[in-house]
Order: sequence, then C-alpha cells, then structure tokens
Amino acid sequence: MNPAPPGEPAPSVQKDPLYVAARASEPEIADFASESVIIFDIEGAVHYWNPASEALYGWPALTIVGRGIGHLTTRSENEREHWRMLLQEGTWQGVVSRRTPSGIHIAVDIRQYVRFAQDGTPRDVIEYGRQSLNEGAVAGADWHIPDRLMAASWEIDVSDAVPLIARIAQQRKLADAIDERDLNALYLQLVKAARIVNVNERTMRLVGGNRGRDLMIGQSVSGFWPLESRVAVGGLIADAMTGEVDGATCRRQMPSDGILRDPLVTVWRAETPGRIYVAVNGTVDDDRSYVYLRASEARYRKLVHHMPVALWQVDASHMGRIYADIRAAGVTDFAAYLDAHPELVDLAATTVQVTDVNRAAVAMFGGGSALDLMRPVGYLFTASRRSLRNVMIGRFNGQAGHDEITKVQTLDGRVLDVRMSVTYPKALAELDVTIFSFEDVTERLSIEAELRQLQADFTHAARISMLGELTTSIAHEINQPLAAIVTNAETSLRWLSRDDPNVEKVKALTARIAASGRRASDIVQHVRGMAAKRRPERSAIDLNEIVQESLTFIRHEIESHSIGIATNLARGLPRTMGDRIQLQQVIVNLLINSVQAVETQGRDGRAICIGTHLTDRGALAFTLRDTGPGIPPDDIDRIFEGFFTTKEAGMGIGLAICQSIISEHGGSITAANHPDGGAQFRFEIPVETV
Ligand code: ADP
Repeated sequence: MNPAPPGEPAPSVQKDPLYVAARASEPEIADFASESVIIFDIEGAVHYWNPASEALYGWPALTIVGRGIGHLTTRSENEREHWRMLLQEGTWQGVVSRRTPSGIHIAVDIRQYVRFAQDGTPRDVIEYGRQSLNEGAVAGADWHIPDRLMAASWEIDVSDAVPLIARIAQQRKLADAIDERDLNALYLQLVKAARIVNVNERTMRLVGGNRGRDLMIGQSVSGFWPLESRVAVGGLIADAMTGEVDGATCRRQMPSDGILRDPLVTVWRAETPGRIYVAVNGTVDDDRSYVYLRASEARYRKLVHHMPVALWQVDASHMGRIYADIRAAGVTDFAAYLDAHPELVDLAATTVQVTDVNRAAVAMFGGGSALDLMRPVGYLFTASRRSLRNVMIGRFNGQAGHDEITKVQTLDGRVLDVRMSVTYPKALAELDVTIFSFEDVTERLSIEAELRQLQADFTHAARISMLGELTTSIAHEINQPLAAIVTNAETSLRWLSRDDPNVEKVKALTARIAASGRRASDIVQHVRGMAAKRRPERSAIDLNEIVQESLTFIRHEIESHSIGIATNLARGLPRTMGDRIQLQQVIVNLLINSVQAVETQGRDGRAICIGTHLTDRGALAFTLRDTGPGIPPDDIDRIFEGFFTTKEAGMGIGLAICQSIISEHGGSITAANHPDGGAQFRFEIPVETV
C-alpha cells in the first residue's frame, strides 16, 4: 500500500475523546474501551489491538500485532477505494467486511483516522469498530463473545510432535478398537511436547503465576495448562493439526478449572507450519472481573513490594511433581533419601527459579536491581546448604511452612544471620508459588550474645560472692586433709626413727598422705572451677556427682550448725549434657539458703534432706527439703525475682540466678512449702543424649 499525498487531519479527529485518550497513552486506556481500537501503520502492520478487538474479531492480539491488517480484509476493489479515500481525507467511516480466524466474514462499522507526523506525512491509522447492526452480521453471530474480556491467548509450537500427531490420527481411525485411556495418554503427551512460543498478558497472569513471559516461552504447555482440561486441549490441538481445512478453528467448552469458569477454548493452525494459536475465553472463576483482578493484584504487588520484610517468590512446581513421584515410589523418610541422593538438592539449587523479589530483598542482598536476584535459588544457600535441604524436606512432608535461623551470604559477600520462613503452596489448583522471607537477625543475635555474656558475668560475680560466704567452710574442707597429712607424716617419722624402722607401717601412712594430698588438691580444683571466669560450657555430666561436689563446699557449714543432712541419690541416673559448674552453683545456692533458714530454728530437729531421681517423663530431678520456717505464702511467687530478699544482708539474686541457669538447661525450678513445715525446692532438667 502506497501512502497517499499528505492531507490535514479532519477537525473531527481532534474532538473524538477516544482518539485523544489513545494519543495520550494508547495501550493503557484503550485496553478498557468497549469499542475495538486498532492502530496500524501506513504499511498496514498492526501495532495495537485492544481486548475489545479480540472479542469482536476473535483474533487474539498475539496473532495480529506485527502482521498486516490486510489479513482480515477482503482485498476487494471497495477496500482499495476506501483506503485511498482515507489517506486523502484523513478520515473514513463506513461498514467493512472482516474475516474471523474461522474464516467467517462479519460486517463491522468502523471509523478510521489518520495520524500525521510532524512533517505532515501520514504516520498511522487509528480505527474504532463495532459490529454492524444494519447488515445483520448473521455470519459473525456465532463468533460473538459475550464477555468483552481479553482472551487468554497462546502461540504454540507442535513441530516436535508431528509423529505423535500422526499416531493420534491413526488411532482415531481405529476408533472402535482403541481404549480411550490410550488416546488420552497420547493427548497428554502432545500437550507435554507442545512448546510455548508466546502468550499474551492475560495468559501470563492467569497461569504464569507472575513468572513473567520470558520464563514461559520455550516451556512445555503442560507446565502451565490446568490439569482439568489438559486432555481436552490435547484433543483440540490434534483436531486442529489433523483437520482438513487449513485455518479452520476447533472449539470446545472446557470444564471450569479453578481459574476460569467454563472456558471456551479455540485452537487453529497458524500460517507458520507446526504452529498453532489457542485462545481461551471465559470469566475468572471467582466472579471478579479480570480488570478488577488486575487492579487488586497491582495493589497487592505494590504492598508486597514495599513491605519491610525481604520476600522471594519462588517457582518450585517441578520439584512438587518430583516429590510426588518419589512419594509414589514409597519413600517416607525423605531426609534419608536426600542423604542417598544429594544430587536432588543440587537440582533444586540450580532449577528452582526465583520469579520475583521485593525491594527489601534487593536491599538485603546488596543487588543492583531485582533482576540480580531472579535466578535459581542456589545463591540463597551458599552459606548454608543444609537449609535448602530442610526446606525441601518440609515441602515433601506436606508442612504448611518451614522456619529456621540460618546464615546467608549476600551478593556483595557479607554473611548475615537470618530468620528464614518458607510458605509452601497449598492446593494444587492454586498457583504453585513458594514464598521465602528472610529477616536479618544479625544485630539481634549479637545483642543476644552480649546479653548472654552479661548474664554469664553476673552469674560469675554471684558465684564469687557465694564463695566469699563459704570461705570458712572451704578453709575447713581443705584443712581436713592437710591436718591428716601432718598427722600421718609425724607418725611416719616416729616409725622411721625407731631402731628397727617399720617400713610396712610407713608405707601405709605414706599412701594415706598421698591420698590426703590428692583430696586437698581436688578441693582446690573445685574452688578454682567455681571461681574461674569462663564461658558457659556443656559437657556430659552426672547429676549425682555434681551433688556430691556441691556438698564439699557446704559440709562444714552444715556440720558446724548441727544440721542433719540426708542424701537420697538414685542409682543409675542417665548422664546428660550440661554446665557442671553452673549446676553446682544452683545446688550450693539452694543449700546455703536452707542452712540460713534452718539456723533461725531451735537446735533440735535441724535437717536438710536432698535427693535425686528420674521423673515419670524421663527428666532428671533434684529435690531439697529443709526444716526451716518455710516461705511466707505471699512471697512464694516473688522469691525467684531478682533482688527479692527477706534477709538483712541478703542480695536477693541467688534464686534468680538458679532459675536462669536451670532454664538455660531447658528445665524448670519450683518452690513450695511442705505440709509438715519447711521449704521445698525442686528442679528438673531434661535428659539430652550424650
Ligand atoms: P537471698 O538469699 O540473698 O535473700 P535468694 O534469691 O537466694 O536471695 O532468696 C530469696 C528469698 O527467698 C530469701 O530472701 C528468702 O526469703 C526466700 N528463701 C530462699 N530459700 C529459702 C528457704 N530454704 N526457706 C525459706 N525461705 C527461703
């Protein structure tokens, strides 16, 4: 088509509101027009085709944009005359005949306006059209689509499936003899072999799960087509490919698939061999119009985008299918399975694609833009591969989500402590989207570490002060073996200075001296252990041993105050993991309190009874009962508070520290009064396998 000589645009062009709108922002506003709006250049190549054009003509934008408008026209003498007039006058109005994909002709009332470039040459043509009422348009009635929504359209390449299609055709000829299931299996194979060449925006939004068009292109149609109608669309594709008439449409109403309600699917052969077009019309299943859905989605995306939590959207749909196969093979212990098949973790790392991230994610990972993060998920797990494994196990086991504290390495090389939360997709019908959120907890963890350090310092200070209270007792404890050493050494000397020295006696005494020396040294070690400033550490411990050692610190205190002590230690207690010095500190603390409590009573009947046992639930328990005055009921809820004391010289920190040590060990400590008088304390710690 040759451009006609330039002419001034008709004044009516400027006044047409749609024209002005289309000029301002063509695609966005005209998308919502109820009239067909088409823009094509002077060569006839279509640049814009709105959803109403799709509804009117049945050609999805995908199949028309970039191609000649002549495709739809009759190329008649009338048509050529109309074109000449348009270019001369700048505007044309009238009824034309247009061709639908199925080859039917419909009469359309159109208005066309030429838009001119600065230099006065014609630039393009904008055309508004609606079905002509005058001409009856009988032929096109069939094509009219009630909802004027953009069809979800696909361009599909089935060239790889030519042998398969031939097989289907063959099978169909045998119609009676074949099992429908075999044919259905072939249809499914066909959909699997069909590759996406292009899709329009609606398809992308309906089934692409925001993965973006680029990610859909080249993929198998079966990865995106709803399961409910996969067999049916396979049949339609086969119909179109084996149909006699080139360009004829094959159409079928499909069952609702959770995305569209009763979708009407049309398939026809494209001009390029081995290519087909598919258009799906129908309303979104939940009564919201597409436009509404799009608006609400835009709002949602905006919200997500600006959320202060770093979010990743991930497409792990193919892993879901792999898991289903593994499950079907009878695997239940997926952790063990992954140990035997570490390549599956590699597969996830390299093929599970990040399809979207928000701003906080880009900021956290130090990326330049979202694109830097839209890669396979492997980069999220460079610092902790194990976390990826945990995420996979969670999904396999059908959990709703997975949560853990882990480390990530950012794109600029920083290593962060993060809390990772993963939300898995729910029902199959929903978009298969997994959401990851990462919260940077580096600072929080370092504050927690500082707090732990402070607490350890505090516990240490309390221990030193406790040792201070116990100096007499400790001195006495060390003095005992020292005195024994002196006595035994003197006796030995006497045996040796006799005329016939009794070597045997001296031997025995020397052995006792050595034993006493070791005993003294042990006590010094204990005191040192208590006094040393050290980090809390966990090792295998024996609760009974700890009780015995604790007694060395306080034995003299107990004896010198004429307190009877009864110990009742259960045999064969399991060992557990714990901090030996800290647990000693708890027991010594409780004992000191009891000594102080019973001291206030008369000399008769002063007693402390301690014991250990294994509880019904398999925890280690330490119990203590004294014959002191007991704890005033009003105070019982407060004695574990820091700085609560009823003693004149008390600090009120002993029990608070006991409580924090026991809870660090995952246990609990309680206080009560015995019905017969006196206080009772009890702590329990769980047994952790050593
Ligand atoms: P302090 O011994 O410095 O007062 P604690 O935290 O060890 O600090 O004890 C807090 C309070 O709990 C004590 O002041 C006392 O009132 C009460 N208490 C602790 N142990 C006993 C006990 N065996 N009998 C009676 N009261 C006790």
